[in-house]
Amino acid sequence: MAKRDYYEVLGVAKNATKDEIKKGYRKLAIQYHPDRNPGNKEAEDKFKEATEAYEVLSDDQKRQIYDQYGFAGLDGMGGGGSADYSHVFHDFEDIFGGDFSGIFENFFGGGRSRRSGAQRNQGASLRYDLEISFKDAVYGTKAEISFQHDEVCEACKGTGGENGASRKTCPTCQGAGQIRRSAGFFSVAQPCPTCQGAGTVIDNPCRACGGTGTQSHKRKLIVTIPAGVDDGKRITIPKQGDAGRNGGAPGDLVIILHVEPHQYFERSGQDLYCAIPISVTQAILGAEIFITTLDDKKIKLKIPSGTQHGKLLRLKDEGVPYTGSSRKGDLYIKLLVQVPQHLSAKSRSLLEEVARLEGENTTPKLMALSELRNNQ
Ligand SMILES: [Zn+2]
Ligand SMILES: [Zn+2]
Repeated sequence: MAKRDYYEVLGVAKNATKDEIKKGYRKLAIQYHPDRNPGNKEAEDKFKEATEAYEVLSDDQKRQIYDQYGFAGLDGMGGGGSADYSHVFHDFEDIFGGDFSGIFENFFGGGRSRRSGAQRNQGASLRYDLEISFKDAVYGTKAEISFQHDEVCEACKGTGGENGASRKTCPTCQGAGQIRRSAGFFSVAQPCPTCQGAGTVIDNPCRACGGTGTQSHKRKLIVTIPAGVDDGKRITIPKQGDAGRNGGAPGDLVIILHVEPHQYFERSGQDLYCAIPISVTQAILGAEIFITTLDDKKIKLKIPSGTQHGKLLRLKDEGVPYTGSSRKGDLYIKLLVQVPQHLSAKSRSLLEEVARLEGENTTPKLMALSELRNNQ
């Protein structure tokens, strides 16, 4: 598919200011953020396209190169030319710490408005530790999770008052949520003791929730784990944390993935590693063998004649998918030459014959250890 012009992607003019570029991206990023569109491939692609465009156009140097030479000029600079965006997601997580609601204030420097007067308490974000198998991390899965969180109380609709009676302005602080107390020459602001900073009080607290406006509920969710995730990856599900108080926004549910180790496979980035034993004769003569991959595929592997112990073979594109991309890492197979410990009389006599023919060297010279390492 042909790539769309970066300016067109962000919906801005060629001479757009940095601010306009930022605004263009922000709009698209909120709309298409993967956390908001779980499992929606089209949204994910749009998000990636916008992120790539933003990555280039927000960088003066890259933008200049792009203006002058187009996509070709950006090859090899990261971002623009490469097809791998897993690092972009990674950057996002680093910058935003998985907190979607806070992302854009932090990233774009637009400060949070209001923090004076009565507090609208945002609900707490919750952490959920999810163990998944090695294979599920590589190929993706859906996991059902169940957790406890605070929801808006149904009886009082979150007001905290019996029969939905609304809260009234706190008489102590007149709704400010804090009081000033003079201490010697100074005047110190303190949270209001009557309303604990809420700015409002209730005469007759709701019996269902005790006046808090929230109730603890058990909730079940099916979470989509994308292919290619690694240990420690965070998946944020917006608004599934605790409900806010006094009309405040709910927190998020942040799922932290813990990947169980595999009996045979190990992983380094998107590459997979495993080892298989081969016989001395297979190593000497060469052979064709079949190995079973992580996804239970049988793959033919050609062992060249004269293979040394520890040799690493590579199967291209049989590794871990890059999240949100069709690219994959590679599978590396380490060949371990197994020396037989028991031989039949016949084998022994044949090998003695080979030894005579080849002429065994009884005074070998020392060999550099680095040569051994080069083989592995
Ligand atoms: Zn209630
Ligand atoms: Zn008060």
